[in-house]
Amino acid sequence: MSVNASLARAKEAAAKLPHVPGDVSELLRADAVTFCSKAPDPPVYRRRDDPSRVAAQQLISEGEALLARAYHSGDAPWIAALEAWLATLHHIADGKVELAEVSWVEAQRLEQRATGRRRLYAVSDEASTKVFDAQTRQSRFDPKPERTMQVKLPCPSCRKVSEVSFSPRVAHHQLVCTHCSVHWAAYVGEVRSVEVSKRGNKRTYSFRLTELGGAQTRVEVEDGSVGELQVARNDLLAFLYLPRPVLRGVLNLSSSRVLWVTGGGPCFVATVAFGAGAPELDVLRGFRDRVLLPSGAGRRFVEAYYAHGPRLAQVVNRRPWLRAQTRRALRLVVQVLAEERE
Ligand SMILES: [Zn+2]
Repeated sequence: MSVNASLARAKEAAAKLPHVPGDVSELLRADAVTFCSKAPDPPVYRRRDDPSRVAAQQLISEGEALLARAYHSGDAPWIAALEAWLATLHHIADGKVELAEVSWVEAQRLEQRATGRRRLYAVSDEASTKVFDAQTRQSRFDPKPERTMQVKLPCPSCRKVSEVSFSPRVAHHQLVCTHCSVHWAAYVGEVRSVEVSKRGNKRTYSFRLTELGGAQTRVEVEDGSVGELQVARNDLLAFLYLPRPVLRGVLNLSSSRVLWVTGGGPCFVATVAFGAGAPELDVLRGFRDRVLLPSGAGRRFVEAYYAHGPRLAQVVNRRPWLRAQTRRALRLVVQVLAEERE
């Protein structure tokens, strides 16, 4: 079954929908947001029995019904967003990985535009201004003062809180603690979804985030502490890093709860390239713990990797073609490691 057949079916169903008095847009919005949150990530590589293919297939009829309602009410932003989500689901269900990836990014962008949801921080170039407004004599290209965001963040070293301000358009921030003078970094993003899995005494959090600048990223955090971080969709998270190896804490700016992480660190580039939960990640993690960490040179490599990983991951994540190349390069490494282990 094709995307076009799906859209045609939704149009047909829309024509048969009865007229409902009153404003239906809020109801449509609530149902559409729920629907979009159920859509699976596109798989990062082809697998015959990929669970996301089945999950996508099962959501298609629900998507068609919602799109019919959007057509019926003439809600243009939701029509665009739901059409893009339906196309994404079809591509995932058909195992068309590259197409799914491209339309997934587009679907999320359109969904964000359709929800127009209240965010904690506005992004300054978001509102579309006229190229030139004759009344105010302002042009879209006039320089605007850079907005800043005020946030209270605990230092990952001494854990004392200081108020910091930074541009809301950038996700990655280099900071210096005013109490202990340690250099550290914060990475800020809004939660789209989170999965928590537990193995032994370790929890793994797989976050799907929207950076304040709009880019989509995935971050995986391994934690061996007793605490558990409660996170909901649309919460704003700050990941707190020391320049030496790893992630020290995750702060939920929406609930002001913090999780101090012990043991392990997120494998940024690999997670972005393979997708959270991919079997390749276990092989790479094992390599880190068995081979790299016991040696001095290995530890320095891991430190450098965690210092630059988040940025590299950002670069990779914004470019689907680069993601595919990274995946290919990493898969070679994984292959060599797996053979070595046998
Ligand atoms: Zn400090």
